[in-house]
Amino acid sequence: MDKGRIGVVGAGTMGQGIAQVLLAGGREVMLYDVAEAALERAEAAITKGLDKLVDKGRLDTETREAALARLNTVTQLSLLSECRAIIEAAPEREELKTALFRDLAELGDDIVLASNTSSLSLTRLAAVCRRPERVVGMHFFNPVPVLKLVEVIRAEQTADDTVAAVEALARELGKTPVAIADSPGFAVNRLLVPMINEAAFLVQENVAAVDDIDQAMQLGAAHPMGPLALADLIGLDVCLEIMEVLHDGFGDPKYRPCPLLRRMVDAGHLGRKSGRGFHCYS
Ligand code: NAD
Repeated sequence: MDKGRIGVVGAGTMGQGIAQVLLAGGREVMLYDVAEAALERAEAAITKGLDKLVDKGRLDTETREAALARLNTVTQLSLLSECRAIIEAAPEREELKTALFRDLAELGDDIVLASNTSSLSLTRLAAVCRRPERVVGMHFFNPVPVLKLVEVIRAEQTADDTVAAVEALARELGKTPVAIADSPGFAVNRLLVPMINEAAFLVQENVAAVDDIDQAMQLGAAHPMGPLALADLIGLDVCLEIMEVLHDGFGDPKYRPCPLLRRMVDAGHLGRKSGRGFHCYS
């Protein structure tokens, strides 16, 4: 893909991170959101993120200035029509993304349309687009400036050159792309979240205490963080949603969500963001 501008749709947690790495990588970015306030927050977060890189000596001040000058925040979708590619990071709701992709597809036939969805079917998203072969998944991980992986998800309709274009873009940003077929949970979440769910079963069945389960996986499997601490970081509601996607998608009882996980979500114990999950955060 040539060095043209890239659109980012949705200026929340992921959109901000994706925009930041694009800007630091020399791209011009059109960052779109329906909420002006979200764009203001994103601009502040991106500035802070780039400042951090300057403090660490990984970016000079001139490059920081130039990067920020390449950021355009917009609330009008049609302004993304000159983009080479658009990376969508709007809320994880199928009807919302479907409507959005229908509109994005009207912006231009040659624009690569990538979704950062964590769980929705790329094949269904592509199906509503005029050029479905241009639709692909580009699944970044949070925090985007830190984590190196991008899962590149091929819908049934995705063309080879679309996959090649986003793999090249991921590499350009210093990320490592891995190719994944469109399948529930893709690869990372299908491996990671059932492990978290099983850890919740260990707690529910009183097999081991929360701290011991976390310590066991840190010391015994060299995980940087135990599964229950990780669940708190991700959000128990997000973990539950992913288990439901796996359970519905495969129809296999091995993916049944742990009842304890469900009860904790019902009680509002969502992890770090609510101050309490498997661990307490005060
Ligand atoms: P978020 O809630 O932080 O941000 C979503 C943003 O989209 C908000 O700023 C909101 O104003 C905006 N928005 C709402 N409706 C919109 C519309 N119609 N058009 C454009 N923007 C709209 O969400 P997030 O955590 O950044 O997640 C975004 C996507 O990334 C989701 O698909 C999610 O599954 C995926 N994802 C999230 C993570 C994570 O750890 N947060 C990791 C990987 C992938």
